[in-house]
Order: sequence, then structure tokens, then C-alpha cells
Amino acid sequence: RAATHDHGKEDKVMVSIRIRPTEGPSAWVPHPSANSLKLDPAYAKTSSTPAQTFNFDAVLTGTPNKPIYSTVARSHVHAAMEGFNAVIFAYGQTASGKTFTLSGDDTEPGIIPRAMKGVFAFIRRTPEREYLLRCSYLEIYNETIHDLLAPPTSAAKNPVQIQGGVGNEIILAPLREEVVTSLKGVKEVLRRGEGNRRTACTDWNQRSSRSHSVFRMVIESRERGSGAEDDDDDVPLPSNGRHTPGHGRNTPGPRSQTPGPGRSQTPGPVLQARGGRSVQTSVLSLIDLAGSEKATSDKDRTREGKYINTSLLTLGTVIGTLADNAAKHKNDHVPYRNSKLTRMLQPSLSGNARISVICTINPDPGAVSESMSTLLFAKRIK
Ligand code: ADP
Ligand code: MG
Repeated sequence: RAATHDHGKEDKVMVSIRIRPTEGPSAWVPHPSANSLKLDPAYAKTSSTPAQTFNFDAVLTGTPNKPIYSTVARSHVHAAMEGFNAVIFAYGQTASGKTFTLSGDDTEPGIIPRAMKGVFAFIRRTPEREYLLRCSYLEIYNETIHDLLAPPTSAAKNPVQIQGGVGNEIILAPLREEVVTSLKGVKEVLRRGEGNRRTACTDWNQRSSRSHSVFRMVIESRERGSGAEDDDDDVPLPSNGRHTPGHGRNTPGPRSQTPGPGRSQTPGPVLQARGGRSVQTSVLSLIDLAGSEKATSDKDRTREGKYINTSLLTLGTVIGTLADNAAKHKNDHVPYRNSKLTRMLQPSLSGNARISVICTINPDPGAVSESMSTLLFAKRIK
């Protein structure tokens, strides 16, 4: 059954805080049930705004990623399946838990693998529609967009360009989009992207903390019809309206290349957005942002640091303006064009798109001033 997503009741921007566990003392006093946190007075001398209690949509602690997904991501993934654009960001200083939250590890899969599982579960319980899913994976480093699904050598030579299309449309080219028909297929795409990302640079740690990584899924769907208007689709739908997974459908190439051995259910149907039935298209974007920390070394203060600061600053301004416009029914100018990230995401942020920002903080007393600046960012975009 397709959940009816009550879009109107949801805020445009959801902002949550995740505090990673620590072995040592924590500088923060979280109140997850009150969705608030404040600085422990013992550490207040390092901060300019010590007494402030911060309130967000959610304040989350602990290691399990499952409650994180259900609180800050699941409704956005469902919205994307129902035709709304949705973007989920992880923002925070390096080592605060952005990648743990989004990607996770084998024992604690993060938002991306859970979202992908959610997508295929949604398809299975929505037999009345058929879907076409296309993934791309890219990295923005020094305001240059690299396709992580292209071989590293050719990706370096052919950075992705942003072109304006019809109306609000944005075209990214050259960019690979892989059709996926199973969770296994998505995981393979993710692995390939990660691999390319690592081989493309000599210093993986420093590069990953200075670049944004963007995993996108374009979701097309349409009502499953009689097939009458598709002259080459001669496969009748089962009489009860449900399809038999992985059986008897006239599906094009990419699907048959990923038969998913070992899986009892290949997900639904997919494909060929043509014929008379109207096609619904949306994009789900999952974004691991560059580290938000202030520039420290001389090198940072030059090109890289400047680009990171500009694009995170622009992101804050864009989301803050969008939230404000939505709350106050205003139409203030949104400076999408001030960074590649926001320009690229323009169609996915504007209109009735849903946005979730998870701001991760390191509770270490030594990180108080960076954590405070993350909280101020979070406050600004709400
Ligand atoms: P970032 O991507 O922000 O640089 P990472 O996600 O790589 O940070 O996290 C840094 C380290 O802390 C990793 O070893 C990660 O596994 C661990 N970590 C982060 N958040 C958590 C958490 N909530 N629970 C347990 N370990 C965490
Ligand atoms: Mg990381």
C-alpha cells in the first residue's frame, strides 16, 4: 500500500542534531525528548553564548543508525517516492560523524543503504505503479564536479558541467546515470563510486573532508496501465493487478543484467516511461558535506578553504532563505548561483521539495567552538 504522505503538514526544512558518543567527558547536555541541548556550564568559558538552550526538530545521541533513519530520513524518502524532490544533508566538522550517519558501516548501515532498502520496499508495496530508478554519484571539490561513476582518469579530464534546461530544469553533463533494479545493484554502484573516489586522489582523508559527495537517485514512475497504448508491450498484467516479482515482464536490458542471485525478490517492475500514462519524476539526493571546520593551516586558507567556506556559507543562506520564505509565505531571492552545490540542487531545493539537515557534533570539550558554530549554522537554517 502506498502511504499517503501528508506533505502540507511537514516543515520545508527539518534540522536535527546528532551528538556522537565519546569516551571522555562531554561538553554538551542533550535532552533528546525535549529536542534541545545546551552547553555544560563547566565548559562555558570557551563559548560566547554559554547560557543558550538550542531547540531543533530532533536531538539524537548514540550509535544505532536505525532510529536516526526513522526520525530524519524515512519521511523524506517516502516523499521522494511519491513525486516530491527530497534532499538529505549531513553537516559538521571532520570526524563528527557525517559519514557514519549517511553511509554507516557493516554493523550500522547509515541513511543511504537504509533509504535504498526503503525505496525497494516502497516499490514492492505499490504494485499499481511501475518505476524507473537511475543513480548517479558525484563529488564537488574546489568548485569542480567530478563524476564518481566514470573511470577516474576520464572523470578528471571531463568535469561535469551544469547547464540550465527548460524552465527550472538543470542538466548535468557528462554524468553517468546507472539504471538500478535491486538493492544489490545500488550497492554495486555505491561501491564503484567509493572506489573511484579513493583512487582519484593521493590523500583520501584530506580530500574527503574537503569535498562534498552527492548520491542521487532519479525516480520515475507511472500508473501501471493495461499496456494497450504500448504497442510492443504484449505482456498482460496479472489479473489481480499485482506483478510477479522478477517474472514475465518485458523489461529492457539493464534489468536483465542484474538478476540478483540469492535474492528471492527482485523489486518491481520498472521501466520504459512512455505511452499515454503520465510520468512522475522526482530526485532524492543524499549529501555528505565537506567538513565545516574553520581553516587552520596556510594551505587551507588559500583556495580549498575558501571554496569550502563559500559553498557551505551559500548553502546556509539558501536553505535559511527557503525556510523563511516557506514559513512566512515570502518570495525572497534565493542565491542558488553562488555555489555549484546549490546551483546543481536548485530544482531539488525549490518548490515543494523536502529538506532534512543532520548536523553532527563531536561532544569533546576541545571541539566546543566548532560544535557551537555547527549549532549556529543549524539555527540559521531553521
Ligand atoms: P566525518 O564523516 O564527519 O568526518 P566520521 O563519520 O568518519 O566523521 O566519524 C569519525 C569516527 O567516529 C568514525 O570512526 C566513526 O565510525 C565514528 N563515529 C561517528 N559517529 C558515531 C556514532 N554515532 N556512533 C559510533 N561511532 C561514531
Ligand atoms: Mg566523512
